[in-house]
Amino acid sequence: MTRIHPPAIPSDLPRALPPTPGFALRSALLAGGMALFTAASAQSQPAAALAPATFPAPSAQKTEQFMLSNGMTVIVKPDRRAPTAINMLWVRVGAMDEVDGTSGVAHVLEHMLFKGTPDLKPGEFSRRVAALGGRENAFTSRDSTGYFQQIPARRLEDVMKLEADRFARNQWDDDEFKRELEVVKEERRMRTDDNPRSQLYEALNATVYQASPYRRPVVGWMSDLDAMTADDARAFFQRWYVPANAAVVVAGDVDPQEVRRLAEKYYGPIPARAVPARKPREEPAQAGIRRIEFKAPAEQAYVTLAFKVPGLDSLATQTPANAQANADALALTVLSAVLDGYSGARLDRALTQGEGRVADSAGSSNGLYGRGPQLFILDGVPAQGKTPEQVEAALREQIAKVAREGVSESELNRVKTQWVAGEVYKLDSVMNQARELGGYWVQGLPLDSGERLIERLRGVTAEQVKTVAARYFGDDQLTVAILRPQPIDKNRKPRAPVAGVRQD
Ligand SMILES: [Zn+2]
Repeated sequence: MTRIHPPAIPSDLPRALPPTPGFALRSALLAGGMALFTAASAQSQPAAALAPATFPAPSAQKTEQFMLSNGMTVIVKPDRRAPTAINMLWVRVGAMDEVDGTSGVAHVLEHMLFKGTPDLKPGEFSRRVAALGGRENAFTSRDSTGYFQQIPARRLEDVMKLEADRFARNQWDDDEFKRELEVVKEERRMRTDDNPRSQLYEALNATVYQASPYRRPVVGWMSDLDAMTADDARAFFQRWYVPANAAVVVAGDVDPQEVRRLAEKYYGPIPARAVPARKPREEPAQAGIRRIEFKAPAEQAYVTLAFKVPGLDSLATQTPANAQANADALALTVLSAVLDGYSGARLDRALTQGEGRVADSAGSSNGLYGRGPQLFILDGVPAQGKTPEQVEAALREQIAKVAREGVSESELNRVKTQWVAGEVYKLDSVMNQARELGGYWVQGLPLDSGERLIERLRGVTAEQVKTVAARYFGDDQLTVAILRPQPIDKNRKPRAPVAGVRQD
């Protein structure tokens, strides 16, 4: 499915809550295991609070944003339909801010935030949140790191106090670090090393990108984890966990003035520090096709095609410099939805149905925006007796067909109607509202980006979709990765999780 907003936490990826858009499974894998989750107590999305028809739509309740004197952003989204609240702390730092040799440190640090402060013992944070009747989790992606709790609204002050304490004073000893590092390494083994498609995407990222930090996996290379020291994590914390690089998002049954008072009380005293300058590390233009093959024990072959495409960097009035790129990013998102946005869409019909079908499954996704460069992904699993190369050709033919013949108004209307419905549904969950607002803040986008995005997408024409299909899908910006399945050893024992790896 092509999504323009973060989907609900997928049940097949426990503890994976992608905070950036476009997350079908393949894009989650592409993003390097994507959001890696830590705590166990909030593995699934809270049940959506169903709104009685007589209540005002949550979008009618104004979102407020303000800044504390130390530079920290506070965003409040009141939604009074249920007596619950989300407290979510976002730090604008993720795997892309790491440097070679310490890949994975953003995620390791996320784990360490649960390991104490001068006032809290390791694990005490989670015990207190549970005692308050709350559930919690945390995630690390390429672009950001986040921590959240869902609690009865009257407990908001307690969790804000806890969160501010660890943001300002996270502290633990070297032994605690060594133990947790083993947990993280086990997480890597389970999520990546035991999963051929995850390994394929890790290799794909490392091939697609050369200068961009997106080339490294979020979980980190194993040799970097082996060599990581407690001081690596402490230095990363010192450098990036500064008020001006963070936002607190509170959504639910709360009063903005009260949230402001609490934020000033608990986060306000944290001393202001400068956010370190970031180097651009821009990816040089690709000038020729790249191909990789990956062999691993697996049931089926798999092929994925990654095309470099422009990302959306603004929803505001366009400047001439980025107007074309932004318009194209939106049109590419519509293209992806026309290919794979609903059951029976083009890829399904052309590749997986009927006599002589070439694939068991086929998909498409567009990375609409992010702090780094974006990709348009096509992928497929060959049907019995078909090859990855046949699937690759069939996928590319579907793009070529759009470039030649365009798309129909009825296809466009179908995907647009679906998005509008999705916007409304999304607001049923305060968790989704908090995630969306935090995600926009990370990207430097305005808080009403959801509405603006829908408005912009509705304006995309069939002609624009045809044009981008012709513009971005040549060989020169393409990387193809093929998984060649090897025999599976039936006697191989499944990996036994080590103690300490939290299971859902
Ligand atoms: Zn983790």
